[in-house]
This record gives sequence, structure tokens and C-alpha cells, in this order.
Amino acid sequence: MSENNGVQMAVTATAEPEHEDLFKIAVQQFHIAADVIELEDDVRGVLSHCERELTVHFPVEMDDGSVQVFSGHRVRHNSGPGPTKGGIRYHQSVTLSEVKALAMWMTWKCAVVGLPFGGAKGGVQVNPKLLSRNELQNLTRRYTADIQPFIGPNKDIPAPDVNTNPQVMAWLMDTYSMNVGYSEPGVTTGKPLVLGGSQGRSEATGRGTVFAVEEAARYIDLDLSSTRTVVQGFGNAGAVAARLMEERNKSSVVAVSDSRGGVYNADGLNLDQVTKHKDRTGSVVGYLEADDVTNEELLELQCDVLIPAALEGQITARNADRIPARIIAEAANGPTTPEADGILYDKGVMLLPDIFANAGGVTVSYFEWVQALQAFPWTLEQVNDRLRQVMQQSFQEVVKKSNEHSVHMRTAALVRAIERVSEFTRVRGIYP
Ligand code: GLU
Repeated sequence: MSENNGVQMAVTATAEPEHEDLFKIAVQQFHIAADVIELEDDVRGVLSHCERELTVHFPVEMDDGSVQVFSGHRVRHNSGPGPTKGGIRYHQSVTLSEVKALAMWMTWKCAVVGLPFGGAKGGVQVNPKLLSRNELQNLTRRYTADIQPFIGPNKDIPAPDVNTNPQVMAWLMDTYSMNVGYSEPGVTTGKPLVLGGSQGRSEATGRGTVFAVEEAARYIDLDLSSTRTVVQGFGNAGAVAARLMEERNKSSVVAVSDSRGGVYNADGLNLDQVTKHKDRTGSVVGYLEADDVTNEELLELQCDVLIPAALEGQITARNADRIPARIIAEAANGPTTPEADGILYDKGVMLLPDIFANAGGVTVSYFEWVQALQAFPWTLEQVNDRLRQVMQQSFQEVVKKSNEHSVHMRTAALVRAIERVSEFTRVRGIYP
């Protein structure tokens, strides 16, 4: 069911799940890397499953007095390295398979950048754009209450993801705090500053992606000031990445997009104007100083740096060989299929995989968690400096693995992550 068919349904109960096979893809990627390091079967068995898969169905009272039942999940993939970490997304196409894949990727992501966390993820099947603020708050509070036994500052710590934001995290933190009887800022990250959020958290994913691009450009000897950048997705991660590619690196951002489509100007976009247009109309589409392009066309535009910052499954065997970019930095989770990975590697593209390229978000979440536990805030400069160091060092580690095993960067990042997480599995042993 499309959201534009005139029926204002916030939950698409009959929708075809778009990401049926996403967990299969995540497991496939895992085995490719596990083969490279000849991972033993026992550990392979543990790491290729999610530890816990919770599904909840819960009623929400809507503004008109009617009741709608929504479905949500919270999945914990692996808690070997520590409490688990991962965002919560609100999207009409959320499925359990998708949330499981995203939880597994969170485990690898935390390990690639060396955080003391395992991976988890949550999602509610809803189109939040069709809800009022009050309905959104009701939905968030009830979902939080339903997953409450499984979250907590030392258990599993949610954060924003697609279509969730600091306000949603504030409602989550408040609901949890009301239920336990004291204020617990450590239960979530990505909170508003006033509740113990971190400086720099809201920009961290996009900023981390740009730090990653800078390191990769240095490595392949690409002068970013003479490059063109294309960004798919103009949400939190994409808009920040686009702005910083221009501001920090003088790269010309020639195309950006959102879920309705994209805009392209070969001479470079005026990002302030594009942002104003989006704020006014709800989309970048229709911005006058550019040509409209589809999201598919956008990926094939002439550019040096491509930043997919939207949803999964965008770069596939069908379009990979037509993508001209020299660096692809995955600000989104799972935008590239395993077949496309192989094609891009053969073409010599420097692909910075999601579990590294968008790890800036969870890295600053970790900083936020540390600040909350210590009740001792850091400055923006401290946050950004430490983030840059983490991204630079992790890039070097991943490149080292890529050269050592002659594998592409995704497999290299996975090798680094799996080596680290499997060590926890072995040393901790099996209970009982
Ligand atoms: N949702 C973000 C991600 O996919 C951030 C997760 C977090 O900060 O825990 O990495």
C-alpha cells in the first residue's frame, strides 16, 4: 500500500516487506569475512545468529479517539563486548529481518571503531509523517514501555536512527525514568543537550563520514578541492556530510536527493538555498537552480565522491558498473549488495563500508554515554577531535586488513570486527 493513495494509514499492515532478505545479506557478508580468517565453526555459529529477537504489538490511542495497533522489534545481536548499542527507526517498511541485519551490523560497527559495545537495533513499522506530535509521543512511550525490561544503561542503549530524533529519545528517556523511579540519562544517546546529550552528536554521523572520506582521499592521493560530490539522502547524515564536504574540503556538491527524488547542477548546488527550499516545501525536489533527477539517475552522475545516505539496497549488480565515483562512503546502513561490492572492487573504487563510514554516530553516542555516566560534559572541540582520531585510526586498521588479505574494504572491516568480537566469545566461554 502506498502512502500516497489517499488512505491516511500510519501503519501499512498489508505492505510487502521490502527487506525480506536483508538478514541473509548480512549473514552472507559475515561468512565471506569469516572464510578469510578461517573462523572456527563454533564461533561462526554464535556470531551468525542474533541473541534475542523481541517483537511487540501494541495499541496507540490516536487523536480522533480511535485505536491503532503497531508492531515493533528490538533485537540484540551480540553482547560479548559489553552492553549493546543501536538506534530505533520508524519506517513503514520495517521488518524483523531488516532489524536483525541492522543489529548485526551494529556489532561489527562498534568493533571496527573499538567501542566497548555489542550490537542491537529497534524498529517500529509506521510512517511517522502521518502521525501528529501527540500520536508520535504516545507511540514512543508505549513502545519504550514494552521493550523496557531489555534496555538500560548497562544492558542495551537505544539511539536515533531513520525518522527518530532527540525529541523521541527524550520521550524514551522520560518513560524509562518514570518507570524505574529516577532520572536515567544513560539509557539512551542522541538526547537533547539539556537532558545530557553530547555536543556534536546530531552532526556526528555525517561528520564521521567526511573524516573517513578525507582519510581515504589522502590514501589514494585525491585532492578533494578539485572533486565533485553526490549525496543520496538529505536527512541528518546526508545534509551534514554534503555541507562539510563543501565547507571543509571545498568539494563541489553537484547533486543531493531525498525520498521524493534529487536535484542536480553540474556547476555545484547552493546548499543553503537547497536547505531553505526543503524546509519550505518538504523536499529538495523542485529547487529551481537545478535539474530534477531520480534517485537511480543520481547514483550514476559524474562525480568523484558518492555518499549514499538514504536506505538499504541502492547499489546493486544492476547499476554498480555505471557508477563513476572513485570513493563511495556509505553514510547509510546497507546501501550496497554483496554482488555490487565485487563489481566496485574490480573497478578499483575505494568503498568505505557502512560499518566504518557511518560509525561516527555511534562513536559520539559512546562519548555521550561516558559523559552521562560521569555527569561531566565535554566541549564540542573535544568531541570532534576525538571523533577524528577514531575515524583516522580505524581507516588505517581497515586498510591494513584489506592489504594483508587482498580483500575489499567491507570484508576488511568485517575481518577486523569479527576478529575482535570472536575474541570476546572465546575468552568469555559458554554459560553455564
Ligand atoms: N543509528 C545509528 C547507527 O546506525 C547510531 C546508533 C547509536 O548511536 O547507537 O549507527
